[in-house]
Amino acid sequence: MGLTTTKTLNNGVEIPVIGLGVYKVEDGKTVYDAVRSALELGYRHIDTASFYQNEEGVGKAIADSGIPRDEIFVTTKVWNDEQGYEETLAAFERSLTRLNMDYVDLYLVHWPIPGKYKETWRALEKIYHDKKARAIGVSNFHPHHLEDLMKDATIKPAINQIELHPQLAQVEVREYCRNHNIAVEAWSPIGKATYLDHPVLQELAAKYRKSPAQIIIRWDYQNGIITIPKSVNRSRQKENADIFDFELSNEDMTRIEALNCGNRLGTDPDQL
Ligand code: NDP
Repeated sequence: MGLTTTKTLNNGVEIPVIGLGVYKVEDGKTVYDAVRSALELGYRHIDTASFYQNEEGVGKAIADSGIPRDEIFVTTKVWNDEQGYEETLAAFERSLTRLNMDYVDLYLVHWPIPGKYKETWRALEKIYHDKKARAIGVSNFHPHHLEDLMKDATIKPAINQIELHPQLAQVEVREYCRNHNIAVEAWSPIGKATYLDHPVLQELAAKYRKSPAQIIIRWDYQNGIITIPKSVNRSRQKENADIFDFELSNEDMTRIEALNCGNRLGTDPDQL
């Protein structure tokens, strides 16, 4: 139990259940130091995207860490203005070049761009068949997007990465994904730290002698949800990973579930 704890995806690939997110972490020294620090602490999963403009720093930190490439799970994503079949194939090669890698572990369609995502998915299937991505998936897909995608897909997405935290518990998407054997991965898992002072989270933190962020990340873990909390701060990176030595009771899991109030911090995928 720890940062090497994995979940098995629907194609048999193992993904570490906690990764480091690097959205809004500046390329160069900032992202380099954040990733090096996380890897030193034992993180083995990094979540970037072409949109984040920091793939170069991520790749360099991984290369310099001395940790074998196959021990680190690397996710990147195709951005909205890169979608379409040929465009995605080209975007993927650009990501590989910036990462300085010859494959990624997970490649995601960042958003369900209407009229585009099926062609984008066809490109991801080719990338998968060419063994340049060990798994492929989507992000920000509602059940109706998944339903539509799977009408023509030959490979089922391994993952749906969505905004998910106690105040946006995404019950329907989780249920749909569970029924279709698609793993759920939470972005903004700690709600961008905007409501860690919520009385219920504070009370549970005191009860379990943990921080509110740890309570949330543990709640995800017990729900089988993969998380990618972002921190550039070493002690918070350590804190976010230290969730394997306690267990929330069923009653407390339900109390956290009851915080769900539809508080969406990002864009609704239907409103693109
Ligand atoms: P998070 O919910 O991970 O919150 C990050 C914020 O919380 C930062 O301000 C961080 O500050 C702070 N923080 C981190 N740990 C703690 C802690 N233990 N206690 C208090 N504050 C803390 O939000 P993100 O939006 O960054 O989401 C995580 C990742 O998800 C992204 O980095 C990205 O990889 C992915 N993502 C994917 C999207 C998609 O469309 N697919 C969209 C958005 C994000 P500090 O760094 O100073 O510690």
